[in-house]
Amino acid sequence: MAPGPRSAAELAFESTNPLPVSSLYRTLSIFEEAGVLKRDHGADGVARYELSEWLTGHHHHIICVSCGAIEDIDVPTNSEKTLHDIASGIGGRAGYRVLDHVLEVEGVCRNCDLQHH
Ligand SMILES: [Zn+2]
Ligand SMILES: [Zn+2]
Repeated sequence: MAPGPRSAAELAFESTNPLPVSSLYRTLSIFEEAGVLKRDHGADGVARYELSEWLTGHHHHIICVSCGAIEDIDVPTNSEKTLHDIASGIGGRAGYRVLDHVLEVEGVCRNCDLQHH
Protein backbone atom coordinates (compact mmCIF):
# COMPACT_ATOMS: atom_id res chain seq x y z
CA MET A 1 0.00 0.00 0.00
CA ALA A 2 1.22 3.55 -0.77
CA PRO A 3 2.39 5.80 2.08
CA GLY A 4 -0.44 7.82 3.58
CA PRO A 5 -3.02 7.84 6.36
CA ARG A 6 -4.46 4.49 7.52
CA SER A 7 -7.81 3.61 9.07
CA ALA A 8 -7.94 1.40 12.19
CA ALA A 9 -9.19 -1.50 10.03
CA GLU A 10 -6.31 -1.06 7.57
CA LEU A 11 -3.78 -0.90 10.42
CA ALA A 12 -5.22 -4.08 11.94
CA PHE A 13 -5.04 -5.80 8.54
CA GLU A 14 -1.46 -4.70 7.85
CA SER A 15 -0.12 -5.38 11.33
CA THR A 16 2.16 -8.41 11.78
CA ASN A 17 1.14 -8.51 15.44
CA PRO A 18 -2.66 -8.10 15.27
CA LEU A 19 -4.55 -6.28 18.02
CA PRO A 20 -8.31 -6.33 18.43
CA VAL A 21 -9.66 -3.33 16.47
CA SER A 22 -11.31 -2.00 19.68
CA SER A 23 -8.00 -1.66 21.54
CA LEU A 24 -6.42 -0.26 18.39
CA TYR A 25 -9.03 2.53 18.40
CA ARG A 26 -8.26 3.28 22.06
CA THR A 27 -4.51 3.39 21.36
CA LEU A 28 -4.99 5.60 18.29
CA SER A 29 -7.06 8.15 20.22
CA ILE A 30 -4.44 8.28 23.02
CA PHE A 31 -1.74 9.05 20.44
CA GLU A 32 -4.03 11.61 18.81
CA GLU A 33 -4.54 13.41 22.14
CA ALA A 34 -0.77 13.36 22.68
CA GLY A 35 -0.30 15.08 19.29
CA VAL A 36 1.70 12.20 17.82
CA LEU A 37 -1.01 11.19 15.36
CA LYS A 38 -3.27 13.34 13.25
CA ARG A 39 -6.75 12.17 12.26
CA ASP A 40 -8.05 12.75 8.72
CA HIS A 41 -11.41 12.03 7.17
CA GLY A 42 -11.36 10.79 3.61
CA ALA A 43 -14.13 11.22 1.05
CA ASP A 44 -15.74 8.06 2.53
CA GLY A 45 -15.92 9.61 6.03
CA VAL A 46 -13.70 6.88 7.55
CA ALA A 47 -11.21 8.24 10.14
CA ARG A 48 -7.60 7.67 9.12
CA TYR A 49 -4.45 8.33 11.12
CA GLU A 50 -0.93 9.34 10.26
CA LEU A 51 2.06 10.75 12.12
CA SER A 52 1.76 14.47 12.85
CA GLU A 53 3.62 16.88 10.59
CA TRP A 54 6.16 17.72 13.31
CA LEU A 55 7.35 14.13 12.80
CA THR A 56 6.85 13.65 9.05
CA GLY A 57 7.34 17.15 7.65
CA HIS A 58 4.82 19.23 5.72
CA HIS A 59 3.00 17.29 3.00
CA HIS A 60 -0.29 16.99 1.15
CA HIS A 61 -2.82 14.26 0.37
CA ILE A 62 -4.73 13.06 -2.65
CA ILE A 63 -8.06 11.34 -2.02
CA CYS A 64 -10.03 8.99 -4.27
CA VAL A 65 -13.70 10.07 -4.18
CA SER A 66 -14.70 6.62 -5.39
CA CYS A 67 -13.00 4.18 -2.96
CA GLY A 68 -11.80 6.62 -0.26
CA ALA A 69 -8.08 5.78 -0.63
CA ILE A 70 -5.72 8.48 0.64
CA GLU A 71 -2.10 8.81 -0.45
CA ASP A 72 0.65 11.31 0.23
CA ILE A 73 1.24 13.46 -2.83
CA ASP A 74 4.44 15.16 -3.99
CA VAL A 75 4.12 18.93 -4.40
CA PRO A 76 7.06 20.54 -6.27
CA THR A 77 8.83 23.27 -4.27
CA ASN A 78 7.66 26.10 -6.55
CA SER A 79 4.01 24.93 -6.29
CA GLU A 80 4.40 24.68 -2.51
CA LYS A 81 5.58 28.30 -2.50
CA THR A 82 2.55 29.31 -4.61
CA LEU A 83 0.22 27.49 -2.18
CA HIS A 84 1.88 29.28 0.74
CA ASP A 85 1.49 32.67 -1.00
CA ILE A 86 -2.19 32.00 -1.78
CA ALA A 87 -2.87 30.89 1.81
CA SER A 88 -1.02 33.93 3.21
CA GLY A 89 -2.98 36.28 0.93
CA ILE A 90 -6.36 34.81 1.82
CA GLY A 91 -5.54 34.58 5.52
CA GLY A 92 -4.05 38.07 5.58
CA ARG A 93 -7.24 39.56 4.14
CA ALA A 94 -9.13 37.89 7.00
CA GLY A 95 -6.71 39.58 9.42
CA TYR A 96 -4.73 36.44 10.27
CA ARG A 97 -1.01 35.86 10.39
CA VAL A 98 -0.86 32.62 8.40
CA LEU A 99 1.24 29.80 9.86
CA ASP A 100 0.38 26.81 7.73
CA HIS A 101 -2.07 25.39 5.21
CA VAL A 102 -3.73 22.09 4.38
CA LEU A 103 -4.50 21.03 0.82
CA GLU A 104 -6.32 17.87 -0.18
CA VAL A 105 -6.67 16.97 -3.83
CA GLU A 106 -9.74 14.90 -4.76
CA GLY A 107 -9.85 12.64 -7.77
CA VAL A 108 -10.41 9.10 -9.00
CA CYS A 109 -7.54 6.66 -8.38
CA ARG A 110 -5.97 4.38 -11.02
CA ASN A 111 -7.85 1.29 -9.77
CA CYS A 112 -11.26 2.98 -9.76
CA ASP A 113 -10.60 4.64 -13.11
CA LEU A 114 -9.81 1.26 -14.70
CA GLN A 115 -13.04 -0.26 -13.35
CA HIS A 116 -15.18 2.43 -14.95
CA HIS A 117 -13.66 2.35 -18.44
ZN1 LIG B 1 -10.26 4.61 -5.83
ZN1 LIG C 1 1.87 22.80 1.54
